[in-house]
Amino acid sequence: MTTLFARKALLANGWQQDVRLTVEAGRIVAISMACELEDEDTPAGIVIPGLCNAHSHAFQRALAGHTEYRGPAEKDNFWTWRQLMYQLAARIDIEALENIARQLYVEMVSSGYTTVVEFHYLHRQPGGGELTSAMLKALIRAANDAGIRLTYVPILYERGGFDGKPLSPEQQRFALSLDEFTDHYQQATTLLKSPHSLAIGAHSLRAVSAESLARIAEIATADNVPLHIHIAEQQREVDECMGAYHARPVYWLLDNFELNSQWCLVHATHMDDEELERVAKSGAVVCLCPSTEANLGDGLFRLQPFLQNEGRIAIGSDSHVTVNPFEELRWLEYGQRLASQERNVAAIRMRNTGRSLYERAASGGAIAAGDPSGGRLEVGARAELIVLDDHSPMLVGHEADSLLDALVFSGFTLPIDRVMVDGNWQVVDGKHTGIEMAAQKFAETIGRLNWYEMAAP
Ligand SMILES: [Zn+2]
Repeated sequence: MTTLFARKALLANGWQQDVRLTVEAGRIVAISMACELEDEDTPAGIVIPGLCNAHSHAFQRALAGHTEYRGPAEKDNFWTWRQLMYQLAARIDIEALENIARQLYVEMVSSGYTTVVEFHYLHRQPGGGELTSAMLKALIRAANDAGIRLTYVPILYERGGFDGKPLSPEQQRFALSLDEFTDHYQQATTLLKSPHSLAIGAHSLRAVSAESLARIAEIATADNVPLHIHIAEQQREVDECMGAYHARPVYWLLDNFELNSQWCLVHATHMDDEELERVAKSGAVVCLCPSTEANLGDGLFRLQPFLQNEGRIAIGSDSHVTVNPFEELRWLEYGQRLASQERNVAAIRMRNTGRSLYERAASGGAIAAGDPSGGRLEVGARAELIVLDDHSPMLVGHEADSLLDALVFSGFTLPIDRVMVDGNWQVVDGKHTGIEMAAQKFAETIGRLNWYEMAAP
């Protein structure tokens, strides 16, 4: 049993002072208010819920900073970036995945993410070959070392485009038949032990047939697990979908499937007014990845009409060009401000933009990870929380909701003192307990892969 005394805590019923949280077996079992610090308590400044990183391709962390130069094409865009990403993907073996994911997950926990939803399609060894669960096992080891809760999303990737063309050589190792995919999903149910969990997913409408997506949706319903899919990230994808299905991607999905809160639509960048309203009303979560969407030049999600229709959002760092949930939220709001020439766009039905963004991302992320009651601190909830240093210059002078505004908008070093995941302290005195080992293994792997020298112009 652990007890934590917080001078301030953002609980499910709002900000409270002098709070004792009692944690046992990974859950909050008691909360009392107006307490005094006792000897056995861990003293804490400000306690807020941990966040879910609802969209991750762990291996892409090794790409950060290596694609920011003008390539041989006339214009760089998502599709030219994807060629570089494939060059990296082709080299990711089991050891590389484990070492990159461990470093990434340590960074995530250090910045306040307590759960990661891993959207995984590197199913085969480099160069193709037999389907293996070894890559999943590598992710589990990395998550255990970093102390992050993993929601594993096995991804079906079966074709090269809407026209059904075969996968390119670079995509071969993603390839699974529907039977292989369902076998792998079943195997994953036995490999993932608490606190980790399983979801299911399709890469995109262009990479998965309508029939296979229907089967995946059946499994998601039968097993009550989240269903994740990339959708409408790029205008080209919208145009190709119009050509093949005579409908915009989100439109087609809405017309062919019963969307509900089990669905997590990743990006959903390009939606018209009707699509925005229908997705919002369906209860599906839209996972926004603002730093990656900006980095790849995807386009801008229209947040205001979506939130006005009570749409649910989560955030993800996707390609991990940066790993910081507060930066994601800042980018999310700033993109809207730049486009609309307004301020405090996300402060809908809430006064403070920082709290509005934070609470929406916490609850939407928990739903996307298959834990609908998560993302808030209350009795019975998972003990996943962030302790902030209330002496930090960033937070001095802030009370209640403006604390979250300061965290989201002030930038610079995060004043994170401790992070608890599943009842265990993973960050203490601002430092992740596994940071040295993770950094050393990561450096070894990056040196061994040496892929960026080959990829550079
Ligand atoms: Zn993605």
